[in-house]
Amino acid sequence: MKNPPFVQKKFKIKTDYPIYHHKIHLIQLFNLIALLFLLPLAIKAFLLQDNKAAIPLFIVAFATIVNYLYLKKSKNEYLASHFLSSLFFVLMSYLVYSGGVSLTGPLWISSLPLIVFFALGLNQGFKYVFFFFILILFILYAPFDFTFTLVEKAYYPDDFKLRVILSFLLITFLSALYEYNNVTSFDTLQKLREELEENSTRDRLTNLYNRRGYEKYIENIDDPQGIILMCDMDFFKKVNDTYGHDAGDFVLQEVAKTIQSTLRQTDIAIRWGGEEFFIFLPHTSIKDGALIAEKIRMSIETLSLTYKDHSIQITLSIGMEIVSGHISLNDAISHADYAMYQAKKDGRNRTVIYHAI
Ligand code: GH3
Ligand code: MG
Ligand code: MG
Repeated sequence: MKNPPFVQKKFKIKTDYPIYHHKIHLIQLFNLIALLFLLPLAIKAFLLQDNKAAIPLFIVAFATIVNYLYLKKSKNEYLASHFLSSLFFVLMSYLVYSGGVSLTGPLWISSLPLIVFFALGLNQGFKYVFFFFILILFILYAPFDFTFTLVEKAYYPDDFKLRVILSFLLITFLSALYEYNNVTSFDTLQKLREELEENSTRDRLTNLYNRRGYEKYIENIDDPQGIILMCDMDFFKKVNDTYGHDAGDFVLQEVAKTIQSTLRQTDIAIRWGGEEFFIFLPHTSIKDGALIAEKIRMSIETLSLTYKDHSIQITLSIGMEIVSGHISLNDAISHADYAMYQAKKDGRNRTVIYHAI
């Protein structure tokens, strides 16, 4: 197909993707998974009378339940994400400080970057990871001895500490890469979806909006008011029969281009059917509508088209009706259609106003 003859102005297509709800469900799932991990560990520590592990584990497990219920009720995904990230921040810091069970606490810290990047995105997540990193460096390598009275600080072999730091950095880097990839793929998909949506609302031959485009356009207007013009090309079948289908296509493109160039920014032209165009002139009076209709009709009448050395003349019959408080959009469309057929009956190449019939 040839390049579309022009690009008609765009209107914003409303889109409501379920991404937001999807994220809420995932954060809820994260809360539940955290609970499933924490509760058995807390119960086990309690049964072993290891209070320094049991108490914080119970507290964090309880906090995940609160967060889950809060998110379910408020749908405040932003706060719940920060709350979940903070919980993990505190729990992981505690595990590194206390050593957890048999000094295995630091094994769990790799889950932090995965959770915060997912829950908060790269920018916000990075802040948590950065402060956590500084904190565990301090806990592991503080040059002076410190311990809180309640829980004793754990001490790790030097080799182990280094490997904890390195594996944490590696997982942070990989999770950031994964999140970045997710975001860019999502953006690409979103752009493709918008492009697809835009393409499906346009007619490929004339690049005018099609019927689907019309529906999307009307959806965006709360109370459509203005003038409707229903335009049908006269004896168009003859063009096809005489010069061939390609010549017909060429004429359709040129007529669409001419109509579009006659309209104002706020007006919209739609390829309604084969050689029929629907035009909506928002907030326009009958007087101005009639002037614009005549302008369009004359611009087509005086159009001199040449296709493969054949000069082709074409005319339009136009039916006009107003959409107002008294006349609904659907009624106005059938009135304009009726007026257009009247224009045909009256000899074609003319504009007929429904109320003047
Ligand atoms: P009237 O003045 O009564 O409207 O006569 P007409 O010949 O324009 O009307 P009719 O409905 O008999 O013919 C319309 C023609 O438009 C028939 C169809 O082949 C042609 N047509 C519709 N869509 C296209 C298209 O996309 N390309 C081409 N080349 N022709 C098309
Ligand atoms: Mg026709
Ligand atoms: Mg027709």
